[in-house]
Amino acid sequence: MAAPIAAYAGAHATGSEAEPLAVHKPQDVEQIQALIKRCRAAKTPITTFSSSGPGRRRGATSSRKSVFLDLSAMKRVFHIDAQDAVAVIEPGVTFAELDAALAPHGLRTFKPLAPRPGKSVIASYLEREPILNVKEQWDVLDPLGAAEVVFGTGETFHTGSAAAPGTMDEHWRAGMRYLTAMGPVGTDFMRVLQGAQGTLGVVTWAAVFCERRPTIEKSYFIGAEEIEPLIQICSELNYRRLGGAMFIMDRSEMALLMVDAANSYQDVADQLPAWVLFVSLAAAAEFPQDQISYEAADLAAIAAKQDLMPVTSLRGVAADDVRTRLETSSSHDHRAAAGRAYRELFFLTQIDRAPGFIARVKARVQSGASTPMRLGVYLQPRLQGRNCHLEFTLGYGAAAPRVAQMAALTATALAEECAKAGGLFSRPYAPWTKMAFENHQALVPFLRHTKQMFDPDGILNPGRLCF
Ligand SMILES: Cc1cc2nc3c(=O)[nH]c(=O)nc-3n(C[C@H](O)[C@H](O)[C@H](O)COP(=O)(O)OP(=O)(O)OC[C@H]3O[C@@H](n4cnc5c(N)ncnc54)[C@H](O)[C@@H]3O)c2cc1C
Repeated sequence: MAAPIAAYAGAHATGSEAEPLAVHKPQDVEQIQALIKRCRAAKTPITTFSSSGPGRRRGATSSRKSVFLDLSAMKRVFHIDAQDAVAVIEPGVTFAELDAALAPHGLRTFKPLAPRPGKSVIASYLEREPILNVKEQWDVLDPLGAAEVVFGTGETFHTGSAAAPGTMDEHWRAGMRYLTAMGPVGTDFMRVLQGAQGTLGVVTWAAVFCERRPTIEKSYFIGAEEIEPLIQICSELNYRRLGGAMFIMDRSEMALLMVDAANSYQDVADQLPAWVLFVSLAAAAEFPQDQISYEAADLAAIAAKQDLMPVTSLRGVAADDVRTRLETSSSHDHRAAAGRAYRELFFLTQIDRAPGFIARVKARVQSGASTPMRLGVYLQPRLQGRNCHLEFTLGYGAAAPRVAQMAALTATALAEECAKAGGLFSRPYAPWTKMAFENHQALVPFLRHTKQMFDPDGILNPGRLCF
């Protein structure tokens, strides 16, 4: 269970992390429980992570010396149910591994944008990384169902429908599929654990909802010189529950997704419209060709209201090929290609407020013209279009430490500006933590009280959030 320390040192780009005291790679819940109990008795902090390398870029870290709890070796897929489109998995299972297991059942994972190969499905969903498929996300918890968690007290607990008496196998034989995340009774433990950055408990398995593999899938680009018409199209598509994977990018961000061996980044970027909406139509088993035809006609009619037209390829790159890339974990970070590095900034807002934030960020980046940075914009509608994840990337040459420092400072200043303008930093990572909690001080006592209940000795991921 103990693992060598050397491979875990220095994962974090800022260099602000402490070396691990020890590394534990457990195989099961009993080992996790035993470790948490020992650490609690000794008041030793624990840093948990489930994803694995290469390059745990901006990885889960601690500035205090802690024991690393690496769950990446817990790779069991306990159950898959094709009828209810759900799987029960351990935290070390990655998107590629789960997709391989789901394929024979006619299912696939709901994915965020370009997860790295070692990214844990459970960690991604706990982090609330936005998924590409807007239509199927009904609630913020989706695609998470019930789960098993070991709290900082060392107690193991089952949430949602998994809290019923009996073992997992007994539940499964009785037809229970852990689809209900809320509970037991009226308490929604998962809603507290999700987004807590591992500070309240360690999730040891979870049910995850899966997407049914479409019989036919067709992807489109809609290009425009302004973002507003694309926002209108997105909103109408979501209102009418049309389209599966869907997002908007500016030309710089889209070019990074489209670039291939035959075309350089600059060649692609120079030829794209300023803004691109990517949308996929997916048809199920019954009359799939008919469904794609009438949905494509609806998409064209919605785009025509903005004097725009969906196309199946842009500048020689097929939208279907981009979708295929998005379905496959790539070993390289597409934003860091060709000697580039970047600093990101993201928050939640309403989609119609996005243009205001974009203008604000553009103005600040352009005002620092002496420090050349690539500004990229990625807008991901969430929750059937009820809000959106707005992400900016400030790209620069990896061999330019002065620009890297400038990008970090600019991103922090922009975060403060966007938070003041109403951007919701619902994933307040290290550079944004102080600002996020200062702006929502009324919440802090309640969060600290919650921490006290689930992790009374403050051993789980100390220093994150407001504790
Ligand atoms: C600009 C920026 C700066 C950042 N700086 C920092 C930083 O200084 N320190 C830092 O820690 N993060 C930081 N982050 C966040 C970090 O990038 C994300 O948390 C990322 O997902 C970590 O990836 P990972 O592969 O190391 O961890 P993952 O294993 O993917 O874990 C992601 C998060 O979930 C928690 N987690 C993982 N598995 C479980 C589980 N089974 N049960 C409960 N919780 C679990 C982890 O503790 C972590 O908080 C930063 C992010 C950004 C955008």
